[in-house]
Amino acid sequence: MARYGQHTAGRGGVSTHNRDMAVRGGAPNGRATGKSAAGKAAAGKVASTKNSVLTCGSRTDVGLVREHNEDSLAVADRLFVVADGMGGHAAGEVASEIAVSTILECNPTPGDPRQLGQAVMEANRNIVAAAMEGRGRKGMGTTVTAATIAGRRLVIAQVGDSRAYLYHGGVLQRLTRDHSLVQNLVDSGQITEAQARIHPERNKITRALGTDYRVAPDMYELEILPGDRLLLCSDGMHGMVEEPLIEDVLATVPDPQDAADQLVSQALAAGGFDNVTCVVVDVAANPRAVQRQNRASVVRAAVLVALLVLILTGSAFGAKAFLDSRVFITVDSGELVVCTGIYGQTFGRDTYQVDHRTGVFATRLDLPQATMDRLHDEGIQADSLSDADALVQTWVEQSGDDGIQAGQDFDDDNAQAGQDASTSESADASGKDGDA
Ligand code: MN
Repeated sequence: MARYGQHTAGRGGVSTHNRDMAVRGGAPNGRATGKSAAGKAAAGKVASTKNSVLTCGSRTDVGLVREHNEDSLAVADRLFVVADGMGGHAAGEVASEIAVSTILECNPTPGDPRQLGQAVMEANRNIVAAAMEGRGRKGMGTTVTAATIAGRRLVIAQVGDSRAYLYHGGVLQRLTRDHSLVQNLVDSGQITEAQARIHPERNKITRALGTDYRVAPDMYELEILPGDRLLLCSDGMHGMVEEPLIEDVLATVPDPQDAADQLVSQALAAGGFDNVTCVVVDVAANPRAVQRQNRASVVRAAVLVALLVLILTGSAFGAKAFLDSRVFITVDSGELVVCTGIYGQTFGRDTYQVDHRTGVFATRLDLPQATMDRLHDEGIQADSLSDADALVQTWVEQSGDDGIQAGQDFDDDNAQAGQDASTSESADASGKDGDA
């Protein structure tokens, strides 16, 4: 058995023709193949947006048992993809490579669930077509977990049993639901998560790209915050290393490339029975966002001093009237809320209260990023409660409402949206252990 050190070959290379890259990983001879150039690790700053800087690390490894790496990954400007191919040698890696390269080529607008979902469905069509043309093999397929980030909006498209996790506030949250036999058994209460990990049929997936023309991804839309870490990984990662250990690495290893390396090393140390792939994306506040927050705190401090003066001079009534007179809009659990007072806390107590909720969700609005940031960071002032409502109404009208919601399917495949069950047999039949 080889030492782990010889299995670091799958680290991604930086593409020579643009900053996007697709990586086929883990060839034992130490060269990444496919679209990417071999060489540098897929690390470093990949995207800088107005409010945040995304930094990313990634690694894919053949593992210690398989002969080929059928996983693929892609890291581009605010687009991140992990795909786990199946169907055996010269098939699984073809399917996963088509998936990541198609999604890169579609270049979905970050934060747009419709475009990301359509890119995944295009990948599906390309895999089916490739098999018919004799590239790869009939019955080849792949999972895909694809994410885009725009400001604070994270959008994920999911097919199969690769996963997305969010490390937020010191806690690892699993974001995606597996399309797998054992997930169905867990959901129906027949087995526990712990039993699922050792179930003999844990590799059977119930939805995959490439098995059928009619596959729709599950879509997830979430709000993310500076300090959050996104992890995308194949089952060679989450099936080998338990979530508390994954959480521990994300909690203790600051650099995303180091974190990706350590996660893969842990999977290898646990046996490396499958190909292992992970992408770690850090959402960090950029200096300008921090400056803006500091400025907000200065304003808040000045207002609090004025308040203190009112209280000290015995004008409790004046102080309350002063607080009530200040109205602002901010975001709570994604929903715009109208508040009175001053955003923040003094002596551990909120110095504001929610007057009413608006029923309007921030992700549904098409606001400039700077406005979105102010909503979150300091709230947006209004002259009165009715003025605040009018402002929210204006935003709604400006944005239009495209009706997109998390989990909703797409126009062109709506007719097939409910047919997961029909695709499950073909995916089951192909299995995931093609060349094991
Ligand atoms: Mn796998």
